[in-house]
Amino acid sequence: MHERAKAAKPPARAIQSHARRQPEPVAPAQVELGRQPVTAAATLTALQRTHGNQHVQRILVAAPGAVQRDAVDDLLGDSKKPVKDRFSTAIADHTPTLAQLRGFLDGASQPDRETISSDATLMAKAKTKLAAPDYLSLLLALRVKKTGSVAHKSAEEADKLIVEKLSAYTAGAVKAGRKVSGQVAVLDGADWTMAYEREFGDDGEEATTNAFVDNEADRIFIHKDRGNPGTIIHEGMHKYAPNDLINEIGSAFNEGITEYFTRKICDSLDPPVVRSNYASNYAFAKKFVDLMGEATVAAANFDGKVADLKKKYTDSVRNWGTLIGHTKAGEWSKATTQLDPPAPVTPVTPTTPPTTPP
Ligand SMILES: [Zn+2]
Repeated sequence: MHERAKAAKPPARAIQSHARRQPEPVAPAQVELGRQPVTAAATLTALQRTHGNQHVQRILVAAPGAVQRDAVDDLLGDSKKPVKDRFSTAIADHTPTLAQLRGFLDGASQPDRETISSDATLMAKAKTKLAAPDYLSLLLALRVKKTGSVAHKSAEEADKLIVEKLSAYTAGAVKAGRKVSGQVAVLDGADWTMAYEREFGDDGEEATTNAFVDNEADRIFIHKDRGNPGTIIHEGMHKYAPNDLINEIGSAFNEGITEYFTRKICDSLDPPVVRSNYASNYAFAKKFVDLMGEATVAAANFDGKVADLKKKYTDSVRNWGTLIGHTKAGEWSKATTQLDPPAPVTPVTPTTPPTTPP
């Protein structure tokens, strides 16, 4: 079963969709009324009083984005109303941006988020109002964690284990803001299919994929009934690693390294979480780590110090290009021979007998 990472190079589609999404201007729209600048939303409320709601609706429809955003900010910020009511109104009457919804949901409690994510009608409405990538990100902002046959650990548990059990290696990643919390959705049904097909298309491997980190926004998606309690740790390991190593060594070898550190945590749990994922990749990676030293491989994986790893390998009279050529082709036994001690340099037999000194 796959617990995939993003591919080493992002597909063209991801780049295009990224380019389409321009950052939203952040300044709220302001309208000059008398001497005091007031927010557009306050102006609209005043207009609502004097001219009636119909006029205001017409203004809103024709209003530039900034006015809409300002109205949504006021609505979402109205702490007198329940979280779910504010979310429903924003979705029903406006076109909130993902940034607005994310900011709002980050400040909400998990029980409040669940009142939203468990309401199928409301979620269906959100799906119609948001572009597909934003809807998928909304699932993460809501920390959707569907309950299924696998006891998936929470994102918070995964962070705690990765930070504590690998404390010698993950300090830099933590400093860089890498984490699992708020970056995962455990899904099923149409939401899982939507996330999967957006990443891989209809490639025939959906049924054997437990989880993946997508290319579009580094989101972790996990199927609620697939994998094991180590799955979120494996996916989390990808989140703690910058792209330097995967871009150098390719996905297959990278999965082996990822699984090596995943098992280091899973084996240490009581009871241990037994993993058999990526068996060949792992077996090779384990031998590689034994040869190169865990700290050197960890620095390449978690801190992007790939040059140091390559240098150490090359300094041991081995050919990095040959090794990576084999791992990229999935030729694990050929790759393993590249870890053998280099053949001793055969002394050149002199063709003529040494001259006898006079
Ligand atoms: Zn993976």
